[in-house]
Amino acid sequence: MNVRVDDDRCGGHGVCCVLCPGVFQMTEDGYSVAYVSEVPAQHEEAVKKAVAQCPTKAISIE
Ligand code: SF4
Repeated sequence: MNVRVDDDRCGGHGVCCVLCPGVFQMTEDGYSVAYVSEVPAQHEEAVKKAVAQCPTKAISIE
């Protein structure tokens, strides 16, 4: 599974970083970034939750 955050859509709410700190991290600019592109298997469920709960629908997976 690959994941990316659309920084044009990210509102910096931090939900994803709370749900899955193993994949998402806040930058100094106050936006989230996925610091892995290939999601480790143990984080897949948490990433799916982050996709569902991101208020701006900024996270995409494929
Ligand atoms: S939950 Fe969505 S809006 Fe909030 S920091 Fe993560 S990607 Fe950005």
